[in-house]
Amino acid sequence: MALIVHKYGGTSMGSTERIRNVARRVAKWARAGHQMVVVPSAMSGETNRLLALAKELAPTKPSDDYSRELDMLAATGEQASSALLAIALQAEGMESVSYAGWQVPIRTNSAYTKARIESIDDKRVRADLATGKVVIVTGFQGMDELGNITTLGRGGSDTSAVAVAAAMKAQECLIYTDVDGVYTTDPRVVADARRLNTVSFEEMLEMASMGSKVLQIRSVEFAGKYKVPLRVLSSFTPWDIPIDEEAKSGTLITFEEDEQMEQAIVSGIAFNRDEAKISVMGVPDKPGIAYQILGPIADANIDVDVIIQNLSKDGKTDFSFTVNRGDYARAIDLLRTRIVGGLGAQDIVGDTKICKVSIVGIGMRSHVGVASRMFRVLAEEGINIQMISTSEIKTSVVIDEKYMELAVRALHKAFDLDQIPADRAR
Ligand code: ADP
Ligand code: ASP
Ligand code: MG
Repeated sequence: MALIVHKYGGTSMGSTERIRNVARRVAKWARAGHQMVVVPSAMSGETNRLLALAKELAPTKPSDDYSRELDMLAATGEQASSALLAIALQAEGMESVSYAGWQVPIRTNSAYTKARIESIDDKRVRADLATGKVVIVTGFQGMDELGNITTLGRGGSDTSAVAVAAAMKAQECLIYTDVDGVYTTDPRVVADARRLNTVSFEEMLEMASMGSKVLQIRSVEFAGKYKVPLRVLSSFTPWDIPIDEEAKSGTLITFEEDEQMEQAIVSGIAFNRDEAKISVMGVPDKPGIAYQILGPIADANIDVDVIIQNLSKDGKTDFSFTVNRGDYARAIDLLRTRIVGGLGAQDIVGDTKICKVSIVGIGMRSHVGVASRMFRVLAEEGINIQMISTSEIKTSVVIDEKYMELAVRALHKAFDLDQIPADRAR
């Protein structure tokens, strides 16, 4: 008998019919003798609907000013689906109880809308499991030390599930979603994308951080830190397929590098439309300038991603960086105030119509020339590269967002990702 955590995403929980299917699938696992903890997301579209209501009531106010209330609001989506799942399980003859984050409790810091989990007390959950109940732990939410409800950032139910699995030392965390695993790129953008049977933890971390939203980045970080066995699989297979078959389906995130396996040079392509570029033009090129520009941005809790500084000309330089689009207006405002405050820049220009496309693969470590091949493919498509950033196992470029799909498809083909490599063929 093993302790297993299942997580079901919004589409999988998208209607009462689908919730019934989830309940039947979970009951099947419980009846096979497993202790089951289930983490559901809000029904699809619900989080967006709730956040849009807030925007309607405060169209001009920055959302940071009412982020506590946004968390109160958004957390209700997951709470509703958790209760519905518990009811559906009970209707299937399975004893079940649902807990909101604060009831577990899942403790987080107070960074509303992007809180981080600090600890999980599993006593209550374990006591219920011991009596044979299926326990539903509400995804995406927690409680700070003052008892305020917090949420974990968009896609955060993945992180709730992996964190619960880590805290409870679950045998495996299964992330059920609307695709049947992790693909070489988003299968909704490239029809030829291929499902990977396994993907290394490092690659998954890069893919998630570069924008593949199939797993929230923090869930991958948790899985790595606590070595949580993690699998992404479909919730749309028939609920009654044999457990053995289901348990082997989808994509396994692996922690050990398989020495036998020739690593693909590029395993996947990620893209991110959620960034915006800011350029500070004509700043005096002197020590400390990067700090002067980015210091206040970091102090305002705004994450900066790709950064470039141009060659200096006549003692002046241009400095560009990208931020999340949601933080763009705030970052521009901050910099404008700094210019008045003596940054000495000539101008600040922004561009929200950019995207970032990244190639990811641990095989890049041992192969030279991968990045230049990427640049050649983009050049052949007539796509101008605005910024570049690299790490050992990825190369990212910032380009005009109108070329995003073209770039992803061309790269997917150029790196043979539509072909099944011999070592990965089944
Ligand atoms: P859920 O609601 O189950 O959490 P998400 O919408 O958050 O589902 O994530 C699943 C989606 O991620 C898929 O529908 C797919 O469009 C997208 N996606 C992006 N990149 C990939 C990838 N490399 N492999 C699989 N899916 C991906
Ligand atoms: N419901 C939240 C969202 O839409 C969390 C999640 O689905 O994981 O972002
Ligand atoms: Mg998700």
